[in-house]
Amino acid sequence: MTEKRVSEGGCSCGNIRYRMTGEPLIVHACHCRQCQRITGSAFVMNGLVRKSDVELLSGTVGKIHFKDTIHTAFFCPDCATYVWSEYKSGRFDDCWFVRVGTLDEPDHFPPSVHIFLESKQPWVTIPPEVPQFPRFYRITDVWEESSIARMGADWNPPDRT
Ligand SMILES: [Zn+2]
Ligand SMILES: [Zn+2]
Repeated sequence: MTEKRVSEGGCSCGNIRYRMTGEPLIVHACHCRQCQRITGSAFVMNGLVRKSDVELLSGTVGKIHFKDTIHTAFFCPDCATYVWSEYKSGRFDDCWFVRVGTLDEPDHFPPSVHIFLESKQPWVTIPPEVPQFPRFYRITDVWEESSIARMGADWNPPDRT
């Protein structure tokens, strides 16, 4: 029962409810300017979850594609809570970037890596033991082998040597 709650989330008005049937492969804290602007905050937290591991339980999901980017955001049309994103780069097309803050128990999923520190707001202090990068990173430097394996045999991270 407890485990079930950990994996569920939804939007602010409650119309969208979803369940993750697999844990995030990794959790990004992204400090890029676009994430700051979209959230109105200092950074966004995205849990990368296989699309096949996210089940929409209720509600309708709207979407918006940001012009000149690979980013499409999915949100609740009734309350505008942004529940997940898709980044079509070839690498993560099979993943939703689930907004950790929409989970019922977001405390369970702290960031595994911080990215785009080049635009980090200066007052944000990141624990030194957490990997952090000026922009992005090599997947094989950061991801657990088990997460890479969960992407499936035909997924080769482009940076794999
Ligand atoms: Zn809503
Ligand atoms: Zn970002």
